[in-house]
Parts: sequence; structure tokens; C-alpha cells
Amino acid sequence: MKKHTKKWFRNRIGKTIYRNKLRCSCKTCQKTAIVIKDMTEHNLRKEFHADYIYDCQNVYEIEYSDTEIVNQENENTFKEMV
Ligand SMILES: [Zn+2]
Repeated sequence: MKKHTKKWFRNRIGKTIYRNKLRCSCKTCQKTAIVIKDMTEHNLRKEFHADYIYDCQNVYEIEYSDTEIVNQENENTFKEMV
């Protein structure tokens, strides 16, 4: 899978990115469109959510893309989804 840099995620704060479907069938995990939040409204670093998603990519091997990823499931379960 293609891995992105931390900068790639940070550049997309406020924008929608897509990820491959996770094996877990709950509503949250089946949702593939994610908006990278600007966390300053919660008094957190602006990059907080972007960095978190970056870590998810590396830890859970989740693939992220600018366009929707079709017909591809992720093997890993993912407990804490944003
Ligand atoms: Zn789930």
C-alpha cells in the first residue's frame, strides 16, 4: 500500500480523505470518508487529528487516499475510530 507522509495529512486539515473499509462492520468503521479536523477549537494542536490519522496508517496499515478506495478491506480491526 502507498504510505503518506505526516505532511500529506497535515496539508489536508479541513478536507475530506478516504480510507479502505475496515473489517469491523459497525457504522463508524464502514464509513470511508473522513474529514481531518482542525482541533484548535478544542484547544489542541491544529495537527492533532492529522497526526493521529498518520499514526493509524502506520500502526493499523490503513490506506488513505484523496479518492474513494473501492473493493478493498483492511484485515485489522480498528477499535478507536475517529
Ligand atoms: Zn467498528
